[in-house]
Amino acid sequence: MCGIVGYIGNRDAYSIIINGLKRLEYRGYDSAGIALYDGEKLNLSKTKGKVVDLEERVKKEIPTNGNLGIGHTRWATHGVPNDINSHPHVSNSGELVIIHNGIIENYATLKKELINRGYTFQSDTDTEVLVNLIEEIQKQENVKLGQAVQIALNQVVGAYAIALIDIKKPDEIVVAKLGSPLAIGIGEDEFFVASDASPFIEYTNNAIYLEDEEMAIIRKGRDIKVRKIKGDKLVDPYIQELKMNLEQIEKGGYDHFMLKEIYEQPSVIKDTYRGRLLADRGIVRLGGLENYIEKFTNADRIIIVACGTSWHAGLVAEYIFEEWTRIPVEVEYASEFRYRNPIITSKDVVIAISQSGETADTLAAIKLAKQKGAFVYGICNVVGSTISRETHSGTYTHAGPEIGVASTKAFTTQITVLTMIALKIAKVKGTISNSDFMLYLRELELIPSKVEEALKSNEKIEEIAKVFKDVNNFLYLGRGYNFPVALEGALKLKEISYIHAEGYPAAEMKHGPIALIDEHMPVVVIAINSNHYEKVVSNIQEIKSRKGIIIAVVTKGDTTVKEMADYYMEVPKTPEALTPLVTTISLQLLSYHIAVMLNRNVDQPRNLAKSVTVE
Ligand code: GLU
Repeated sequence: MCGIVGYIGNRDAYSIIINGLKRLEYRGYDSAGIALYDGEKLNLSKTKGKVVDLEERVKKEIPTNGNLGIGHTRWATHGVPNDINSHPHVSNSGELVIIHNGIIENYATLKKELINRGYTFQSDTDTEVLVNLIEEIQKQENVKLGQAVQIALNQVVGAYAIALIDIKKPDEIVVAKLGSPLAIGIGEDEFFVASDASPFIEYTNNAIYLEDEEMAIIRKGRDIKVRKIKGDKLVDPYIQELKMNLEQIEKGGYDHFMLKEIYEQPSVIKDTYRGRLLADRGIVRLGGLENYIEKFTNADRIIIVACGTSWHAGLVAEYIFEEWTRIPVEVEYASEFRYRNPIITSKDVVIAISQSGETADTLAAIKLAKQKGAFVYGICNVVGSTISRETHSGTYTHAGPEIGVASTKAFTTQITVLTMIALKIAKVKGTISNSDFMLYLRELELIPSKVEEALKSNEKIEEIAKVFKDVNNFLYLGRGYNFPVALEGALKLKEISYIHAEGYPAAEMKHGPIALIDEHMPVVVIAINSNHYEKVVSNIQEIKSRKGIIIAVVTKGDTTVKEMADYYMEVPKTPEALTPLVTTISLQLLSYHIAVMLNRNVDQPRNLAKSVTVE
């Protein structure tokens, strides 16, 4: 995920683009860049860092005049954040310049073909491949820019929002969209392009939001032509009148970043497996794992180290790995592990999980594990982060920046990565049957639509939140794969509502927590269809006998638990090992609504920091 801005008109493009990029920094902030056309040539400046760093750099490097330009604030997916990998990217001839938000899945194959044709590459990005592919098509087919873009995009697999300038035609910008957002602002004799409307809201209220598989040619002082990328159909674009203010636009129309991020989960889970999971061909391919598969298949043990929500993702992985790979797994709090003189050998594989990739305790645990000879694999969201550099190999989650302090999409994308790793290892080890392997690949591909379905209970969950917002304590119970989800649900509630909550394995309740139950105690029970269904039903009976109030997460179509529960939240049916990806959605929404009703600072809860870089 990153932010793109473009301008063509009569105003000074530089200030519009720089201010626009600042507003889009919530979408990415590891590097930034700008290309301006001054009437004769293209002036380009880019840098690792934030938009303010770009401003400093521009002052030293390039003139800022010109009425045409594009700019980018990056959240790296391909290639670490550094000056060279920053956008815009320029084609080999120096004539085409592009900014891109998204992932080109088949970039490696395309890159090889282009290298065979004599192209050279400066960066490690997928984006630079795309701009050169367009150039090659322009040359080979002798077509106009728009047509070349169209042909190229028909060869591309992946997701993109792009804006492209050809310095031979400095009166137009070509844009296209599939899977990543792109808005076009329409002023008088001027056009704006951006990931959302925030960069141009003070200039115009009229905008076109491109649909997936649409592209547009925007001509200065003239018109916009929108067409389908596939086929040749022209589209009559719908010009929308914007009524949102700046803050609402940045949050995508949601009241909080946390809610936005909860709702992003269907698309970011897709981004996580994009190009890595090809269910119809029975393939899971994780770049970081390919050369190290044997480390896992020969491992005596997998030790997962993490903190907070990432630790809960690790617990889910323990169930998944042991079930499918038959490798013993231990899940450790990084802060305990690092000081415990743990027994680690070179036959152990350590998986470190951290959204930011900067978590101090996890980093210390990694160093310790490496000293003792273990192979260390990282799972982070932030490309180029310290943990991604300190580990021997790893996989990025590609969830895009998570702004809300309480982690939501990071959790589900971490589980998605861990599930893919487990499936791959199990397949290579032969500990999963081919039919199960295929089934889980297909089911994993269905998760985004199931998460969407789970999100449809939002209003109902809001109603439940109203009933319980003033209680002082909550219990969360789950079994098996959903025991860690109970812990995560309780943590979410504590973090943002400041209500005391405890998560337990459902069967542990009778060993203590049951003493807390009375008519004032709401108990959230994850009671979906599973191997433990009957047992969870018995646990619910035990709570009800003590007058506890049951809020159940149930599988759609369930009748038994629905009848027993005081309130319920439905999730779609999914194989048990994948249920944490859907059950957690209901619990995220429940804590979100309670916190909002209590007037809490949802995105920045008291005493918490997004990335815990101290011990
Ligand atoms: N894949 C591109 C890069 O890594 C764009 C990043 C994004 O949109 O997240 O540079």
